[in-house]
Amino acid sequence: MNVPPRQSSRATSGGAKSLQTDLFYPDLRRLPGTSELALLFNRLNEKHFDNKLPPAQVSWSTRLRIAGNCRPDSREIRLSVSYHIHFPEEVEHTLLHEMLHLIYPTHDAAFKRAAEKLGVSINCREYPGVHPRSRFVYICPGCRTVYHRQKRGNISCGKCSGNGYDPRFKLVLQKSPPRTPRVRPTS
Ligand SMILES: [Zn+2]
Ligand SMILES: [Zn+2]
Repeated sequence: MNVPPRQSSRATSGGAKSLQTDLFYPDLRRLPGTSELALLFNRLNEKHFDNKLPPAQVSWSTRLRIAGNCRPDSREIRLSVSYHIHFPEEVEHTLLHEMLHLIYPTHDAAFKRAAEKLGVSINCREYPGVHPRSRFVYICPGCRTVYHRQKRGNISCGKCSGNGYDPRFKLVLQKSPPRTPRVRPTS
């Protein structure tokens, strides 16, 4: 099982295309449908937020390659099909994380406090194929775990570090992207 590196963001990439979701479509039946997601939203709203969250639209995305995302302004929450095909048991957890974003748009200190109270993590897990375009590959000097990252940064190993960043286990860059500017995907 992967342990996410410290200081990483739940969002790992965006806008990429062609994860072979077709391959997974037979498994879609294992995931709750949109109406069940709406019920789950209501249930979590009642249980954790005293029904105070504004209504939001929850839907599946076959293109999203992070666990989920939330647009607080338009109150739209999307959950990734490809992610939850791998981790169907995390649907509720991801939804709860995204619901918190209706109150706290970013992973700021207030978000983290609320997330900790609810037992909600900031990071999503990695799985084979979720980071085919990862631009940076890091390795832990302690346990040799390999991390795939979309962004450069000072991060330390999630397995070896205690709470928070630990410079003794600062990840070592193995691979970085070519210097030529990339054309950004348009959608
Ligand atoms: Zn988040
Ligand atoms: Zn390590």
